[in-house]
Amino acid sequence: MEILSHDILIVGGGGAGLRAAIAISQSNPSLKTAIVSKVYPMRSHTVAAEGGSAAVLKEDDNHDLHAYDTIKGSDFLADQDAVEAFVRDATKEVIQIERWGCPWNREEDGRIAARWFGGMSRKRTLHASDKTGFHLLHALFQTSLKYDSLMRYDEWHVSALLVDDGKIAGVLAIDTRRGTFSILAARTVILCTGGVGRIYAFTSNAGILTGDGAALAYRSGAPLKDMEFIQFHPSGLLRTGILITEASRGEGGYLFNKEGKRFMENYAPTKMELAPRDIVSRSIMEEIAAKRGFEGPYGSYVHLDLRHLGEPKIMEKLPMVRELCLDFAGMDPVYEPIPIRPTMHYTMGGVHTDKDGKTPIAGLLAAGEAACVSIHGANRLGSNSLTELLVFGARAGRTAVEYASSAKPCPSERLQALAKEKMDFIQKRYIRTENGTERVGAILSELRKTMDEKVGIYRREEGLQEAIQIIQRLKDRFNRIRLTQQSKVFNTELIGAMELDNMLEVAHVVAMCAMIRKESRGGHARKDFPKRDDEQFLHHSLTFQSPDGPRRETLPVTFTKWKPEERKY
Ligand SMILES: Cc1cc2nc3c(=O)[nH]c(=O)nc-3n(C[C@H](O)[C@H](O)[C@H](O)COP(=O)(O)OP(=O)(O)OC[C@H]3O[C@@H](n4cnc5c(N)ncnc54)[C@H](O)[C@@H]3O)c2cc1C
Repeated sequence: MEILSHDILIVGGGGAGLRAAIAISQSNPSLKTAIVSKVYPMRSHTVAAEGGSAAVLKEDDNHDLHAYDTIKGSDFLADQDAVEAFVRDATKEVIQIERWGCPWNREEDGRIAARWFGGMSRKRTLHASDKTGFHLLHALFQTSLKYDSLMRYDEWHVSALLVDDGKIAGVLAIDTRRGTFSILAARTVILCTGGVGRIYAFTSNAGILTGDGAALAYRSGAPLKDMEFIQFHPSGLLRTGILITEASRGEGGYLFNKEGKRFMENYAPTKMELAPRDIVSRSIMEEIAAKRGFEGPYGSYVHLDLRHLGEPKIMEKLPMVRELCLDFAGMDPVYEPIPIRPTMHYTMGGVHTDKDGKTPIAGLLAAGEAACVSIHGANRLGSNSLTELLVFGARAGRTAVEYASSAKPCPSERLQALAKEKMDFIQKRYIRTENGTERVGAILSELRKTMDEKVGIYRREEGLQEAIQIIQRLKDRFNRIRLTQQSKVFNTELIGAMELDNMLEVAHVVAMCAMIRKESRGGHARKDFPKRDDEQFLHHSLTFQSPDGPRRETLPVTFTKWKPEERKY
């Protein structure tokens, strides 16, 4: 098989991947670095981010306040040393990204503007209107183009990691345009593959977010951390789950039930609509359960009302919200309230890393939503993720430079042997399936339905057990799939099958960790264990693949200054 050699390989061309690439190119331009991405980099999910990026910039704010808000938001599961590093680097990174061309909104006096976001005690969310991700990704992408040492493999899908005796040696990837597999060899690999949102049906996440990085690392022996913590965003547009940014509440939008009451008064009287996402999402579900939601052909919902903000403010600060409502719900938020309900939005867990991006496999790093450092713990605060891409993308890039400068490349005969083993597996599992009977689409729909119904905002022992059994059955059915698309060129059926295999693996871990954690913390709410239980569960969950299914261990949380306290808003 063809071997394409590099020093460092970055899997993923979203915010985290591009920021890592720039850090590498700046620190050591002589390293041969490549980005491999299953979509053109500008189509990564980062482009869809709307509301903003959090960092301390104003006189009335400081790093300890940002750290405390993040840790309280995390329900005290974040590692505090990582959060402290995060908030410190954040300030530098948001200034740097502006110098690379990200047009932050300005105050009248010319200084950078900030808006309110849920769970933040200061206005510290910088934004470029409500198209922050688009501008941020653009600034990173065009900056990355300056470096000649940086190569790209656009529309290549990474299908396996090649690990030699506990050390990363490269990846096996398919060029989707040609349909051929190659070995992309590298002494260091950084996984920046984003989240796993597509294991749910009702989600704000792009179609590419199938947890590939998590599954690749897991199969290679790296543990996944805190996978039970899934974030549901309060305002998913009814029917599609498309995101209506939290900035709409940050700019002053209200939530109403069908009795015309701002119901957040009952749940978070001081923060109201700007309580953290886990709390607002549960409050909406409580209103719906108490029959105070609206009912329609697409299910129950509540209203997000922006009318009092007026058209000029909506057009200046939330133009994309208006566009999305007009295009996908046929209504105009200038004149009507928006029908919303919580939508799966973010994966707090991911590949276990330290704060420099290292995983337990030598030379394998991870950053961005694919990784779990952890700074978000049990619940991420809105606008901390875009900043995380910059901070931890850059940190992982610098770690990669250090590692690649001393590590030895894997000999080609060894690479060929490792790749052959993976290729035989791929042939048998996905390509030579003429005798199979099961269809990818059918398995996928059942997986998503199961996750929505049994591993959603509220969880119960019985439902979780059922979910695990169903996932096991779906995995079994997957062993008998049949693919019919013969073409080598853009064989989306083959890619879809590999993605589904990844999703089944990751969903299994999510459901199992959710069952073992018999408490409620942040985004993980157990109806049968409604209280947080620090005595038994103030730890991270770490899951390893084993022949008998996911094997779970625990890992202590790192504390520096802040002791766990009751989380009230
Ligand atoms: C609608 C929406 C709005 C959001 N708004 C905000 C916001 O305002 N503020 C905020 O802080 N956060 C926001 N978030 C969260 C934030 O945008 C994401 O967490 C973040 O952009 C993830 O970036 P990433 O670089 O980790 O991955 P992504 O941008 O998701 O990129 C993943 C990359 O990995 C590649 N990839 C994946 N699998 C493979 C494979 N097998 N082979 C090759 N390549 C692969 C893809 O091609 C892609 O380039 C939002 C999220 C959504 C969905």
